[in-house]
Amino acid sequence: TTSRPRSEQLYAEALQHIVGGVNSPSRSFKAVGGGAPVFMKRAQGAYFYDVDDNRYIDYLCAYGPIITGHAHPHITAAITRAAESGVLYGTPTELEITLAKKLKSAIPSLDKVRFVNSGTEAVMTTIRVARAYTKRNKIIKFAGCYHGHSDLVLVAAGSGPSTLGIPDSAGIPTSIASEVITVPFNDLDGLKQALERWGDDVAAVMVEPIVGNFGMVMPKPGFLEGLCAMAREAGALVIYDEVITGFRFHYGTSQTFGAFPDHAAIEPDLTALGKIIGGGLPIGAYGGRKDVMEQVAPLGPAYQAGTMAGNPASISSGIACLEVLEQPGVYERMDLLAAKLADAIKDSADRHGVPLTVNRIRGSFSTHFCAHPITNYDEAQDTDGKAFAQFFRLMLEQGICLAPSKYEAWFLTTAHAEADIDLTIEAADNALRQLAR
Ligand code: PMP
Repeated sequence: TTSRPRSEQLYAEALQHIVGGVNSPSRSFKAVGGGAPVFMKRAQGAYFYDVDDNRYIDYLCAYGPIITGHAHPHITAAITRAAESGVLYGTPTELEITLAKKLKSAIPSLDKVRFVNSGTEAVMTTIRVARAYTKRNKIIKFAGCYHGHSDLVLVAAGSGPSTLGIPDSAGIPTSIASEVITVPFNDLDGLKQALERWGDDVAAVMVEPIVGNFGMVMPKPGFLEGLCAMAREAGALVIYDEVITGFRFHYGTSQTFGAFPDHAAIEPDLTALGKIIGGGLPIGAYGGRKDVMEQVAPLGPAYQAGTMAGNPASISSGIACLEVLEQPGVYERMDLLAAKLADAIKDSADRHGVPLTVNRIRGSFSTHFCAHPITNYDEAQDTDGKAFAQFFRLMLEQGICLAPSKYEAWFLTTAHAEADIDLTIEAADNALRQLAR
């Protein structure tokens, strides 16, 4: 059992100065019963060390980017070299070409790319580019998919057949909200209806092709094929948000995922990337078809810029991370460990009579406290949040760090070892036994 007096002290202090004590709301423990989040001071490999010197096995992995474990020597060396060479120039560098070529060789739909600083920026700009290209205003998105915090995509994570314009955040004008149409994930009929009604005004259909934001959720066979066909029929572009899925399951994106036999390799018009491609430093990227990307300044009329964009530290870190991931067997090993862990957790839950749905996609999985399958946001909402909160805390007490949200996935890294998995299996079994009482 861990004790965390220093975290509690720091949280009290942070609350005086930083709004909510955290710099991203997902870090607060609000969704798991409140109280002080854990303040970490160091991370190495698969482990976190908090300010009270407790060690945790990390499955949060910074919400996705840390796929090689913390402080991987190859990435650390690249960042150190970058720091010693000056971290920001405001000029082009050769490094940017190297990373752009690496992305292009792994993601065939990218003719041209542009680097930005976050997934939010990448997505936000794909929408602008799609609007510039199609000269239309509306976008269709899917309920529960998170695409960063820009105005347009913070709209309408709600449910229902297809909803128009309900902001998820204060501060978003209804005029902006009314440009967004939301359809349930995996619902081609809903998409068809939305396109029949608003199709002539739709610039783009935006989707997380494999969902990472209400658990790990696969598209049903045919969903993405249907989505792309319908969008194109309506004259809209297809935007894939691969900020989480890029380089998560294999070396590439869902677009090239031959390992999913039920899914055709579809090339979207635009793709948004982030997270893993920066190896843990801030990054985003977007790219796609040449004629679409040529809408972007300085070639075209769609403006997008960035003081920090393509900075040598982030780019060097990203190149080094992809170099690690290119090594043979890297993904297969994460898959095997995740399979062992996810299967054991499900077995424990069954043994203790705790309803649990585990959605695993290769080296990543989500745990939903419910008996039904999770294929869309309504189903993901309809789970036992109290049971998750209790599970989360019981795991934390045993030195296992998960994301403090019932919607988030567990991420494996190249640094997790068999012994970590065994410890986690034991901890989960304890937690589920206590939950069953
Ligand atoms: N798109 C997806 C699918 C995401 O999961 C996220 C972040 N969780 C974003 C966009 C936004 O990325 P960032 O936090 O880097 O702005």
